[in-house]
Parts: sequence; C-alpha cells; structure tokens
Amino acid sequence: MQTRNVLVVGVGGQGVLLASNVLAAACLARGYDVKKSEVKGMAQRGGAVVSFVRYGERVHSPLVERGRADLVLSLEWAEALRWAAYLRPGGVLAVDLVRILPPAAQLDHRTWQASYPAVEVERLRQAGWDVRPYEASRCAAELGDGRMANVVLLGAVSRELEFTVEEWEQALREVVPEQVVEANLRAFHAGRELPLASVSPGDVRRPAARTFRVEVTASWCKGRSCGICVRVCPEEVLAFGPDDRATAASPDRCTGCQLCQLLCPDFAVVVREEVAVG
Ligand code: SF4
Ligand code: SF4
Repeated sequence: MQTRNVLVVGVGGQGVLLASNVLAAACLARGYDVKKSEVKGMAQRGGAVVSFVRYGERVHSPLVERGRADLVLSLEWAEALRWAAYLRPGGVLAVDLVRILPPAAQLDHRTWQASYPAVEVERLRQAGWDVRPYEASRCAAELGDGRMANVVLLGAVSRELEFTVEEWEQALREVVPEQVVEANLRAFHAGRELPLASVSPGDVRRPAARTFRVEVTASWCKGRSCGICVRVCPEEVLAFGPDDRATAASPDRCTGCQLCQLLCPDFAVVVREEVAVG
C-alpha cells in the first residue's frame, strides 16, 4: 500500500498527542510500519501542537511535506486553517468547530476584540479539500467531559480509515489510562455516530456576545496550599470557599481568558463557553 500521511493538530491540553498515539497503536495492531513526530515546543496548555503520523508497508521518515497529507485531523478551528496547506488536493480535513483563543492574545474574550478567523467551511472547500466539520467538543461535553473531544473526533474519522472497530478499541485500551478506558470507548463510539455539523454555504459563524462558566472540581483542588488560580485571575472571579477549595465566587466577572484553567497544575478548573453562535 502507499504510505498514508496524517496530521493531528490542535492546541496544548486538547489531547493531540493522545489522539495520534491511538492512531499509531491502531496502525501497529494492523501490522503496519508507523513513524511519528511531534512539535509541541513551549506550547504546554494553550499553544499550537502538531503530530505527524505516517504509516504503510515501509516508512522511512516521520515528516509530512506540505501538500502531501491525506488527512488533517484538527481539534480546533484556527489550527485547521494553520495546517490545511499540508493537505494534498482532495485530502480530508476533519475539524472540530470549537474555537480556542490563545490566552496571551486577548484577556477579555467576551468582546472578541482580538482577530480570530471566522468559521468559513465553504471557503476551505473551494480550495479543493474535503472538509468535514464536526461538533466534537459539544458531543464530548454532552457525554460529561469536554476533554474527550479528541477521541470523539477520532471516532468520527475512524469511519473513513481502514482499521476495524476492534483494532481501534484495542488501541484505545493500550493508550489511555485504565481508569478512563470505558469513558473513552463511549466517546469513540459517540464519534462514530456523529453527523457532520450543518454549516451551510455562506455561514461564517461569527460569534456574538459570549459568556463563560468556571467550574472547579473540588476533590482535585489542593486549596490554599496551591492557590494559583485565585492569584492569577485578573478579574478576581475565584476565591476560596468554606471548604478551603477554589470556587467561582463572582462568576459574572469571568472574561474567559482561561488563565486559571491553563495554570491549574491539577486540571481542576474548566472554563466553559456559553455562546450562541449565529
Ligand atoms: S490552581 Fe487548581 S489546585 Fe490550585 S487552588 Fe486553583 S483549582 Fe485548586
Ligand atoms: S475565572 Fe479564569 S477564565 Fe475567568 S477571568 Fe478568571 S482566570 Fe480568566
């Protein structure tokens, strides 16, 4: 078979590397030669991340050249734009329509004063790519954990790839931590059922007003012995509650800058957008 070239892209914290590891494990389960290369640099959580995956009978290099990718799997809209040029003509761009602004680019995310590209699926299709938009993050949130959007999107594109469901399931069991295997299997199968998002021609999806909700998982929070989120929040949204854990004391002031989510060492904070897109 001809070597297949895949890019998995997104921003730090979205699980780009986990998704590409699952794909690589599925390749190995099938008996393919597979090579991977990642660029995460100083991304940590919030910066651009890309993982190249190449597989086939014999693969000599892990890097994919511009214009040669068969598939770009993007966990974020702007990252899809950044990496689309790596696709070959007719290549598949599977993209989660979630939009994540880099926190350093804009502190008040409610006003969208920073320049962020509109969701214009049709323009990408006009460039000759097979663009497949999905509401993977929304689906993952409905399943109870928005962090599994990577596996939901993987499930959606798995229908187009040659691996069997059993090979995908085996790959997931190998790669994800044991305690979240079942949740990730549910996310994967939800992705397999996920329809394409309905984005009609001319739909540019510019957001209107935005509001945010901050959630702290109290059992994961170290409380005052840490206190990072309380100190970094520029709007003083967070404070310590009666149980000594961080809590959103003034939720209406949240601008969605995500600093608390990005800097919490225990992943205890999640900032969710409540936005009517239209
Ligand atoms: S940064 Fe995380 S662990 Fe630290 S106080 Fe805030 S929620 Fe708790
Ligand atoms: S609660 Fe978090 S997202 Fe909201 S303003 Fe404070 S640091 Fe930013």
